[in-house]
Amino acid sequence: MSTSAQIGVTGLAVMGRNLARNFARNGYTVALHNRTASRTHDLVAKFGGEGDFVPTETAEEFVAALERPRRLVIMVKAGDPTDAVIEEFAPLLEPGDMIVDGGNAHFADTRRRERALRERGIHFVGTGVSGGEEGALNGPSIMPGGSEESYAALGPMLEKISAKAKDGAPCVTHVGPDGAGHFVKMVHNGIEYADMQLIGEAYQLLRDVAGYSPAQIAGIFRKWNTGRLDSYLIEITAEVLSHVDAATGKPFVDVVVDEAGQKGTGRWTVQIALDLGVPVSGIAEAVFARSLSGHADLRAASKDLAGPTPTALSEPEAAAFADRVEQALYASKIVSYTQGFHEIAAGSEAYGWDIDLGAVASIWRGGCIIRAAFLDRITAAYDARPDLPSLLADKTFAGEIGAAQDDWRAVLVAATVEGVPAPGFAAALAYYDALRADRLPAALTQGQRDFFGAHTYRRTDRDGAFHTLWGGDR
Ligand code: NAP
Repeated sequence: MSTSAQIGVTGLAVMGRNLARNFARNGYTVALHNRTASRTHDLVAKFGGEGDFVPTETAEEFVAALERPRRLVIMVKAGDPTDAVIEEFAPLLEPGDMIVDGGNAHFADTRRRERALRERGIHFVGTGVSGGEEGALNGPSIMPGGSEESYAALGPMLEKISAKAKDGAPCVTHVGPDGAGHFVKMVHNGIEYADMQLIGEAYQLLRDVAGYSPAQIAGIFRKWNTGRLDSYLIEITAEVLSHVDAATGKPFVDVVVDEAGQKGTGRWTVQIALDLGVPVSGIAEAVFARSLSGHADLRAASKDLAGPTPTALSEPEAAAFADRVEQALYASKIVSYTQGFHEIAAGSEAYGWDIDLGAVASIWRGGCIIRAAFLDRITAAYDARPDLPSLLADKTFAGEIGAAQDDWRAVLVAATVEGVPAPGFAAALAYYDALRADRLPAALTQGQRDFFGAHTYRRTDRDGAFHTLWGGDR
């Protein structure tokens, strides 16, 4: 067996296969391995002409095919399969070799694996990969963690296969040590959930309040995609909404069961945010909205609950309402990103990762699912002020969200009056208003806590912890 492959990929389902092809198309010799060998042979049979592949069947053959230090990419189902694959390969590796886990691992698992492999001298590089099947092939956004040393060996290859932003910058950066890459990928997915929920709410308001058809709404999204909302998710929303079901001739969205699936990264984003004490209310509402959609029995049992009588809008009223929805969507989107970046900053602080938030925004500009013109401006905001405490503290975003607030409120009034759920828009506005407020009811909460539990409170006019003797000798 030759020892010529610069990189190896094990796990050749849709993502691994396309990543392997991407490496090969960029001139690298790629060793291939999959638990079920037929996938390996299938790849070579279909795409062998695209580059230099070294198909292997056993772990020993695979490892022997790699030049040293070895670079081995795992692209298998996240969770136990990843541990199984690590256990299969690690004993065959030598100090200095690198295992790149490109699956959607939980960052805590990545930290555990990194620690264990470091003790054996092996670099474990937990790496977020976004862009789906198409991105893996043509250029994903890549979020590697792991050691500086491993990035020095892997970075140039990852830069070559990654997406490029409009200014030509590769959509990859060394996010930080151990689990930093998978943490950032997790929050990326949380923001993706929030973006999708907000777009869904905009669609439902345009349909149920303004009375537009899916085809008309597709046109509205197409128009929005030429402005500040320019993004992959808005673009594909227009495609999905204009799609007609071939079997029935009905709009595609009307023949699909309205129960949203989820694989877990959005839920993790919220669970970790709870642990870190970061308010990611927009992302949480997006996860809950998917959960609620899946409770078919509960929804069926609630069909007869009273709601308001819908009002019909005239054509000019509907057009004006659509403009307001654009404002509400944009403002809520700013809040989602504000919350997501807050979580990354908090994770970075808690785990000592020293993550450059501007660099994260920069590598999300291309390849990934949340790629958007808007990320150029987030990059610029953090580049101008790396210690920005919140995106809302950036003058540009503060100005834009302030300009949108009247329409944002009007859309939520309409949603409430017409009985159309808009939990993402509402959570975002509540976050905005809570941050702006001079006083929060938290002072009352502290009083209640002190009343029933002697938890003490701090005063506005004096330092120290205070307790009141409520109602005498309780
Ligand atoms: P997948 O369906 O998640 O996993 C299938 C692959 O895992 C197959 O190669 C399978 O081998 C292998 N596998 C499963 N259990 C195994 C075990 N116990 N031992 C060895 N191999 C095992 O594939 P995918 O959709 O291509 O995703 C791969 C990874 O990328 C996942 O972690 C996923 O979360 C992540 N990811 C996916 C996307 C996406 O859009 N799909 C995007 C970003 C990241 P066999 O062929 O032998 O069954």
